[in-house]
Amino acid sequence: MSLNTAWMERDLAVLWHPCTQMKDHERLPLIPIRRGEGVWLEDFDGKRYLDAVSSWWVNVFGHANPRINARVREQLENLEHVMLAGFSHAPVIELSERLVSLTPEGLSRVFYADNGSSGIEVALKMSFHYWRNCGQPDKRRFVTLSNSYHGETVAAMSVGDVSLFTETYKPLLLDTLKVPSPDCYLREDGVSWEQHSRAMFAHMEQTLAEHHHEVAAVIVEPLIQGAGGMRMYHPVYLTLLREACDRYGVHLIHDEIAVGFGRTGTMFACEQAGICPDFLVLSKALTGGYLPMAAVLTTDPVYQAFYDDYATLRAFLHSHTYTGNPLACAAALATLDIFEQDNVIEANRALAAHMGRACAHLAEHPHVAEVRQTGMALAIEMVKDKAGKLAFPWQERRGLAVYQHALSRGALLRPLGSVVYLLPPYVIRPDEIDFLAEVASEGIDLATRQSLSISVPAGAPSAFHDPG
Ligand SMILES: *Cc1c(COP(=O)(O)O)cnc(C)c1O
Repeated sequence: MSLNTAWMERDLAVLWHPCTQMKDHERLPLIPIRRGEGVWLEDFDGKRYLDAVSSWWVNVFGHANPRINARVREQLENLEHVMLAGFSHAPVIELSERLVSLTPEGLSRVFYADNGSSGIEVALKMSFHYWRNCGQPDKRRFVTLSNSYHGETVAAMSVGDVSLFTETYKPLLLDTLKVPSPDCYLREDGVSWEQHSRAMFAHMEQTLAEHHHEVAAVIVEPLIQGAGGMRMYHPVYLTLLREACDRYGVHLIHDEIAVGFGRTGTMFACEQAGICPDFLVLSKALTGGYLPMAAVLTTDPVYQAFYDDYATLRAFLHSHTYTGNPLACAAALATLDIFEQDNVIEANRALAAHMGRACAHLAEHPHVAEVRQTGMALAIEMVKDKAGKLAFPWQERRGLAVYQHALSRGALLRPLGSVVYLLPPYVIRPDEIDFLAEVASEGIDLATRQSLSISVPAGAPSAFHDPG
């Protein structure tokens, strides 16, 4: 028996994997990874896979990065953890100072949580609580965009709209106001991203005009709706949204969990709109993909609304046990050092341009409706019918065929439904990008050539399907 198989069998006897129909593993091999180095992962039989999706969008400077390793190791020798209520430590203070100085002026306070979804919960609760502390308890609803994703906990699911993840739990969810997304895939021919995003803002304007008195905040994924299929829009939407939120007295929450730390071409997506949100939620690449941590940055006016004598009971008494973990902070500090020392945002421009050129030819493919890109994220939309942008039925799992082909070629490409995307670590080389483009191209050929006869049950979810 191969080592891979032995580990797989032990795994499948005791584990329950995330985002997975476990029965799929009766035919799909599970891949146990022994080690990682740079953009490569290696399994127990010695086969290597190029990590084209940065291990679910977290890894920016490669696996086992020597500079991050050294910093975490040094921290480990001194302090692994201490509770953050009543206590503090150097890494969390230094990290907070640096996050405040890197993000737009106006964001002056950092609250920590231990994963992205929990960070979203913090922002939602703080916004609601702020209005309560200000004597406006009616402002308790949240405005969200269609096709958005903000995590898996119950309130985070409530403000999300990827039906695959939320449909089952509907009876548990908060009542939100949903506005059509500015998603530019849906624009008419001949209309620019900017024109489309601007036009779609009318829906938001109308919802805010009607409901602002009961709305605490608008929450968005700036520029890229990730889990919803890497759908993209123009920064003008965010500029208009900031102005409207100010006019109507509503908070703006930027969920930059996926797009923060250079993914869109700037350190943070909000920079491209020239705005400052009231809450900025960061996670994923924050620790370079090493350890789970989220940071929620907010403004002095929000902070001051909670600052009072204890007996007034205005404090934000939220806590997660591992808040501000020193090892995670050390990984984050090393990550920020690399951004600074290697001039990463600038260097990524050439890499992003290379990625665009390497994948451009796919736009001509008879089953590709669009190749779109924002910075270091590029997505290829596979469709049944190109002219009508008609999607493949989700039950056909065309993305899964791409995933399996890529594995056979030594690449980890994990499509979202029929959307194949490259979201690589920033330490990828141009020739490795060319390899990924080639593998994606072959995979798309293969996946769209097959005519699959699958009976399609009625009433099934229509949204994106992760291939498992
Ligand atoms: C991944 C993600 C989350 C959730 O983060 P977790 O750490 O998985 O809980 C929230 N919002 C966006 C935009 C994400 O991509």
